[in-house]
Amino acid sequence: MTRDGMETDPPHSPPTHEHVGTHTMPSRKRILIVGGVAGGASAAARARRLSEDAEIVMFERGEHISFANCGLPYHIGEIIPKRKSLLVQTADGMRKRFRIDVRTRCEVTRIDRSRREVLVRNLETAEEHAEPYDALILSPGAEPLRPPIPGADDPHVFTLRNLADMDAIKRVLDEEKPAAALVVGGGYIGLEMAENLRHRRAAVTLVELAPQVFTAADPEMVEPIHQQLRLHGVDLRLETSVTAIQQTDGSLRVLLSTGESVSCGLVILAVGVRPEVHLARAAGLEIGPTGGIVVDAHLRTSDPNIYAVGDAVEVTHLVSRQKASIPLAGPANRQGRIAADNVLGGESVYGFSQGTAICKVFDLAIGMTGMSERALKQAGAAYEKIYIHPSSHAGYYPGAMPISLKLLFDPGNGKILGTQAVGADGVDKRIDVLATALQAGLTVRDLARLELSYAPPYGSAKDPVNYAGLVASNVLDGLVKLCHVEDVTDPAEDQLLLDVRDVKELESGTIPGAKNVPLDDLRDRLDELPRDREILAFCQVGLRGYLACRILTQHGFRCRNLTGGYKTYRAARAISSNGDGAVKEVTDDTGQQAPQPAETDAPPAEVVKEIDARGLQCPGPIMQLRAELEGVGENQAVSILVADPGFPNDVVAWCESTGHQLLSVVPEEGACRATIAKRARPAATAAPATGPSELSKNKTVVVFSGDLDKALAGFIIANGAAAMGSKVTMFFTFWGLNVLRKDQKVSVSKNLVERMFGRMMPRGPNKLKLSKMNMGGLGAAMIKGIMRSKGVDPLPKLIQTAQEAGVRLVACSMSMDLMGIRREELIDGVEEGGVAMYLGQAEAGNVNLFI
Ligand code: FAD
Repeated sequence: MTRDGMETDPPHSPPTHEHVGTHTMPSRKRILIVGGVAGGASAAARARRLSEDAEIVMFERGEHISFANCGLPYHIGEIIPKRKSLLVQTADGMRKRFRIDVRTRCEVTRIDRSRREVLVRNLETAEEHAEPYDALILSPGAEPLRPPIPGADDPHVFTLRNLADMDAIKRVLDEEKPAAALVVGGGYIGLEMAENLRHRRAAVTLVELAPQVFTAADPEMVEPIHQQLRLHGVDLRLETSVTAIQQTDGSLRVLLSTGESVSCGLVILAVGVRPEVHLARAAGLEIGPTGGIVVDAHLRTSDPNIYAVGDAVEVTHLVSRQKASIPLAGPANRQGRIAADNVLGGESVYGFSQGTAICKVFDLAIGMTGMSERALKQAGAAYEKIYIHPSSHAGYYPGAMPISLKLLFDPGNGKILGTQAVGADGVDKRIDVLATALQAGLTVRDLARLELSYAPPYGSAKDPVNYAGLVASNVLDGLVKLCHVEDVTDPAEDQLLLDVRDVKELESGTIPGAKNVPLDDLRDRLDELPRDREILAFCQVGLRGYLACRILTQHGFRCRNLTGGYKTYRAARAISSNGDGAVKEVTDDTGQQAPQPAETDAPPAEVVKEIDARGLQCPGPIMQLRAELEGVGENQAVSILVADPGFPNDVVAWCESTGHQLLSVVPEEGACRATIAKRARPAATAAPATGPSELSKNKTVVVFSGDLDKALAGFIIANGAAAMGSKVTMFFTFWGLNVLRKDQKVSVSKNLVERMFGRMMPRGPNKLKLSKMNMGGLGAAMIKGIMRSKGVDPLPKLIQTAQEAGVRLVACSMSMDLMGIRREELIDGVEEGGVAMYLGQAEAGNVNLFI
């Protein structure tokens, strides 16, 4: 079956599960079909396959039947270069193969139910005549809405429904080559048109009345689409409407509700469709509350001799069991086939529609099935939701792309209610598996059990679908309690926000008011957490937050995990602030004034390093960028290629936080390339509200202890502070000096006591012991192993990183003297200093830690 045209062949296909009962072939039956595209052509072909005797006549008022309406935007964008590729089946082909009497350019203008005949007007000759029927199948589709905007009748204002509309739009683009176009409406046709008009190198403004595009999905899931549109140079105007369209000197001036106006060469109206029911209504067929023709489970209208299918009918939603209008090609094709079955004596049943849909927006896809959270709320249904952000396939195999997936389920029995996913790769596969699961009535526990195909280029051993099921099952099993963005945005007084990410990750922002205790330190820092407050834990994507909750719960804390983590929080908050902080493409390939980076006095920066970080999951790209920038000189730039669709916003926040300068973010090879200049001091931009504040203040850390765990904590904090732009001085005194000792014995002259001291004390970071549970070195070995497995740098590496980041390591000269440690015994790069130096540094800083 084609995606949107008719079922082309398989005559031997078995009946669908919707098909029950048998066909009793009547004697020569006359079947008339109104509409010759998705539903109509499917009905016609199926009817012929079932009956060689039936007389089948299909009326189509357009020039073509069975064309690929879903491909129309892509021919306009020249992605589908040949127009004829869209003609899935021709009238001639249909006549030859199926002996169907196809009448194009013939409009059915009236149904006379009492006489069982239709009135047909030949649109070429304007002649009208009646055609009798035994059974009539209506598949007239849906018509695009044309809002009553003054000037919307201008010939350069288009809707897109059929080949004629497509040809007209394409003609304007080919002949007039407009520099700019405006699309009204951010549904899938509007989005596809925005993308394809950009392919034609027009500057595109997309105007959408709602605060988000693709309103079938929930706002936070659509935020990456907003970023993607902006990344590709679409001027996205949310919560805006068009108030008038005026002709001015050969171009159009589109007035917006914001008081602004946009000049362009053409306007596409894509504000939605409504079922085309004029014929049905005039014939007295029942029309439902959603505006579609009412049909029963056999797709029979209120007249038993008339069937209706496709966009024109009202369906029942699988999840809500409410009537709905779901104008999609899949249901239309299946319904056409079912109606034909029933016309020819079958008892096929059309079950439910579930709104499975997917839309390509440049390099991203957004897909969904079932009910959205918004729809569940409106219906007053009980639901729980989880978010995950896995990779499309194994992260170590090239080309893995992040997917954000939201799963809505019944908190009582775990039944799937709906799902949405957005990403550059693998969205279709996950949505289709989940659509199948939804239709089969599976629960989230079933998802965890599904055995799905896996090899590194295609998926993960724990596929995102399994993973979503596991996360949701944990909730059902009471292993973790969830909190959501609305909970952490405004926590109550008896709640504490706990960010369990590593310090470095905070550079891209955190939730205001959050306390940071990295997950790996959590067990040792439990005494810092209040037992009388509920802890709302979060990490980047939800996994470490879950682990933190497991630790905290088992230590008697009340705790909930922010599902989807900071990534989901950012997406939800970006939506509510209407895209603030979003980046625009820096290019002038449209011939229009392109968005430019903020004016700055900073000197130009040459790109000295290019990194491909497409295989890295958030926050990997930011961490790699940070490391690479450390290795280049001031006012030099690093260019990084990242697949994570959230990266454009992350890098903005990170640059604001660290003072480095974001030069550009542009789309490239299905990912985005950001270029960042290393700057010494924060640029003119202010620190983000969500980020750490007072970044330029100094920090001092006194390291008194020679315990491994304490030294680790000291260096992690110091490195984090350095990464955030602080000048950090670590002052090593007494036992802390051992952290700085070289591994090897250095021959220096010492007296007896000094030699004894030197022998008894650990020589360097590798010899340090744990402050607790050292167990004769076993504990220290264990913690090093755990750190290795979790990718946490060992202490020597942390020391090296600190030195590379400019952290001053100062050995207390007085302690060195007391303990008989000589300068030569310490690692290179260590300074010596006294109390005065320490106090001077501490006074200039805003944080002073004693470890
Ligand atoms: P149609 O396929 O629209 O066919 C109805 C036909 O009936 C029309 O050709 C019309 O001329 C004819 N007709 C109406 N009244 C009369 C009359 N009185 N006499 C004679 N002929 C009549 N769906 C998806 O699932 N995925 C997609 O990606 C997708 N992309 C789309 C992109 C575009 C630009 C458009 C316009 C639609 C897209 N759709 C998509 C929707 C999909 O095409 C429709 O859901 C599907 O075609 C509906 O089938 P139908 O038979 O009900 O109506």
